[in-house]
Amino acid sequence: MAELIDGKRISKEIKDELKAEAEKFKAEGKEATLAVILVGDDPASAVYVNNKKKACEYIGIKSLSYELPKETTEEELLGLIEKLNKDDSVNGILVQLPVPDHIDENKIIRSISPLKDVDGFHPLNVGALLIGEKGYVSCTPAGVIQLLKRSNVDIEGKECVVVGRSNIVGKPMGVLLLRENGTVTIAHSRTKDLKSICKRADILVVAVGKPKMINADYVKEGAVVIDVGIHRMDNGKLCGDVDFDSVEPIVSKITPVPGGVGPMTIAMLMDNCISSLR
Ligand code: NDP
Repeated sequence: MAELIDGKRISKEIKDELKAEAEKFKAEGKEATLAVILVGDDPASAVYVNNKKKACEYIGIKSLSYELPKETTEEELLGLIEKLNKDDSVNGILVQLPVPDHIDENKIIRSISPLKDVDGFHPLNVGALLIGEKGYVSCTPAGVIQLLKRSNVDIEGKECVVVGRSNIVGKPMGVLLLRENGTVTIAHSRTKDLKSICKRADILVVAVGKPKMINADYVKEGAVVIDVGIHRMDNGKLCGDVDFDSVEPIVSKITPVPGGVGPMTIAMLMDNCISSLR
């Protein structure tokens, strides 16, 4: 039976460390402030924003909330971001994605100062990650690295396969594993013979966006499996990109969904906010 990698416990551990660090900074007169911008009334986005605000409160990060109507123009949003870029009391700016269709998401991402881009999506931060310089790292893949390290999974020299090459998960995930001296393959929808490539993996990270796609046929015995996917099934329950029931009996460690990667994303966002004071 596989050991469960408990993202809930590990994210709590990280948040408690950050809380202690925030208190220390406070004693020195320093406080992190995160500006969170939500455009429109998408219920899922509202839940994410609320969870981020709650995490800020827990840790001792000041959060400023901007809830804008869905008719907000791109110009108005860019104007608000520019104001926040110039405000020295604001350390982090986050625009909850997706934004409504009439707003160019890429333009918004590029308009946030790279020094306040706590989501790590700005091309300058992505570039910094690629060449091993300091910068904000995308929260979900950063969370996966923490899950591995805090579960005593050695990455160095291991065969690491990432399924998915999105800008916010797959690509930065591959670079982070490489930075930890893993031997990395990034697979995608044009990959030939995905099964045999996945079967090579000592560490398999799945961010494919397809419910339960990765079953036991894709997994080597004893591998460590990290499931980034999150989907709501017809019965209301959540599942991942990995078919947990099929894979769990043959691997050494695996993340559950929910309670694996999910809670880590917010913990690493909080880490990025506090790191602006370091
Ligand atoms: P995207 O849809 O942006 O990317 C999916 C990737 O999977 C693409 O690179 C695509 O390849 C690849 N892919 C699709 N089908 C196949 C296939 N049949 N075989 C091999 N590769 C395939 O998704 P994201 O990266 O944004 O998210 C992935 C999953 O993670 C989703 O379930 C999402 O909900 C979840 N997620 C969870 C987060 C969390 O906090 N837990 C945060 C972010 C995402 P190609 O590029 O060739 O099209």
